[in-house]
Amino acid sequence: MILAGIRTFSFVDYPKRISAVVYTGGCNFRCQWCHNWKIAYSNDYNSISEEKIIDKLSALRKRLNAVCVTGGEPTIHNDLPEFISKIKELGYLIKLDTNGTNPEMVEELISKKLIDYVAMDVKAKPENYCKLINVPKDYWNTIFKTINILRNSNIDYEFRMTYVPNLSTEEDIEFFEEFLKEDEKGYATIANSTEIFEVDKKENIKVNKLILRK
Ligand code: SF4
Repeated sequence: MILAGIRTFSFVDYPKRISAVVYTGGCNFRCQWCHNWKIAYSNDYNSISEEKIIDKLSALRKRLNAVCVTGGEPTIHNDLPEFISKIKELGYLIKLDTNGTNPEMVEELISKKLIDYVAMDVKAKPENYCKLINVPKDYWNTIFKTINILRNSNIDYEFRMTYVPNLSTEEDIEFFEEFLKEDEKGYATIANSTEIFEVDKKENIKVNKLILRK
């Protein structure tokens, strides 16, 4: 594993739990607004060994019961399942943050019961994806596979999108709102903002107008 660091306490990364956050290095996207760009695609960070991370998590176990594995993009690392299984052995609940480009690995992690929650990005409508991720490759079919894996699993998950001023469009937000099923959790945010908007289809709360008036 290429690991870029650990945050020992977070109040916002695992729903309703205080968690540790483990950062993996590297990402297959080049989002221009990425707040973790240093570890995602700069190579300008100090890596930390797997042993050190596991030791820290082992020491934290008395005080915490949840870990968020984020990046970068964790699923670009072939040894992620082995790494996560070591964390699982410590007794933690595990949340995976992913951009959805490795459906096979997400499926494996779910089937082996190595993860308990997934937060997955849906960054734009399919036609705008390349623009948002800043990579000239059409990933939509792959991403849609991951979406279907989550939808057909019994794991808890959420979808999230980031509205990037001057890059995202109103149609991207509308696509996100339409794409969500009534019982699915969906959150939208604005790049470089900490404000989070929840899409609630049952209550007909759409985030489109809320975001665009900011
Ligand atoms: S997918 Fe996430 S980690 Fe990767 S570049 Fe985009 S925002 Fe950053």
